Amino acid sequence: MKAVCWYGAHDVRVEDVPDPKILNPHDAIVKVTLTAICGSDLHLYDGYIPTMMKGDILGHEFMGEVVEVGNAVTNLKTGDRVIVPFAIACGRCFFCEQKQWSLCDNTNPNAWMLDALYGFSGGGLFGYSHLYGGYPGGQAEYVRVPFADVGPLKINGIPDEKVLFLTDIFPTGYMAAENCNIKSGDTVAVWGAGPVGQFAAKSAWLLGAARVIVIDRFRERLRLAREDGRTETIHYEEVDSLFDVLKEMTGGRGPDCCIDAVGMEAHGHTIDAIYDRIKQAVRLEMDRAHALRQALHACRKGGTVSIPGVYGGFIDKVPFGSAFAKGLTLRMGQTHVQNYTRPLLERIERGDIDPSFVITHRVTLDDAPEMYKTFRDKGDECIKVVMRPNA
Ligand code: NAD
Ligand code: ZN
Repeated sequence: MKAVCWYGAHDVRVEDVPDPKILNPHDAIVKVTLTAICGSDLHLYDGYIPTMMKGDILGHEFMGEVVEVGNAVTNLKTGDRVIVPFAIACGRCFFCEQKQWSLCDNTNPNAWMLDALYGFSGGGLFGYSHLYGGYPGGQAEYVRVPFADVGPLKINGIPDEKVLFLTDIFPTGYMAAENCNIKSGDTVAVWGAGPVGQFAAKSAWLLGAARVIVIDRFRERLRLAREDGRTETIHYEEVDSLFDVLKEMTGGRGPDCCIDAVGMEAHGHTIDAIYDRIKQAVRLEMDRAHALRQALHACRKGGTVSIPGVYGGFIDKVPFGSAFAKGLTLRMGQTHVQNYTRPLLERIERGDIDPSFVITHRVTLDDAPEMYKTFRDKGDECIKVVMRPNA
């Protein structure tokens, strides 16, 4: 089959690789009908996540048709259409029982690596380095889906483009907003107008925010956020002090909830951002935490900072004193996708939201090398790329 493989920083190739096989009775094989490139894939593309190996198959946002199931899979059959959550969960461990699916204790065969790095390991992820289990990803014609009796959700009658993002970015934006514990009257500020930021903003409205302010430097992304006619935006390169602007917009108090939908590859021109860039370039720091620092600093006293943006290591110059002094609540983590697939599918069916609004580029797997570059550089007004298998 054809698959999108990682060969090094900025080196992604479409290769012929062996078809996946059932290895465990709980597995299914899914023939991919639609897959996407995620902002998280850029951390691999840019070489910031260690333990990638040449030839690793990328991709964790994918859906398709079940073509084979293991003996223990009773909920799915050949021919079913499914979306597959990016986090692999066993459904039986302590963490799955708490519905903290992405923290599953049983699905990362390389848990020892994350144990060494973080103290404890979360679950395995599709196409996301050997730290996270070394599972081949879904930017391919076929994928082996472990614990197919737990994660996948059957889809009937709704086009792929409307449901694909149930695999990651819609639940991720939704969980980020839910983590804010939004109350009526609340102002939610979202750093990053990428796909995750777009879904966080939409979800903040769904969860009852009074105002939503989105911050980025790409005009087309800010324009998309504003299209609903009520989201306000800030082009952060056009203001002297983002902090002052946010403070002024909120009557001197600061946003009630701040969502960092940027993560470890933040841009910026202030001293801390330049410092991060240098330290990351020489591998003294894994993350550029500029957006996180701003979110912590800008949030109102007693507010919540929710962090769906991915961070990987030790971050410098985090204004923890400010967070402490203001009594902030911090929420973060890989999304517990399985909690959201059903309720968000219902929202799509009801017409509350059509997740395909973020798609700007529709291509085939063969275009992956070029599209990784375009999406990374935010060229051609690219916001979200979906790829179907070659004709
Ligand atoms: P993306 O790269 O398309 O979007 C990131 C956006 O942040 C860009 O538009 C960029 O211009 C903007 N940005 C950069 N620096 C900024 C700054 N200082 N202030 C404001 N905006 C800034 O990526 P995406 O797909 O939207 O993903 C965003 C983050 O969410 C990534 O870190 C990704 O890894 C993470 N993510 C996390 C989960 C999870 O489970 N928690 C799931 C999916 C994605
Ligand atoms: Zn993703």
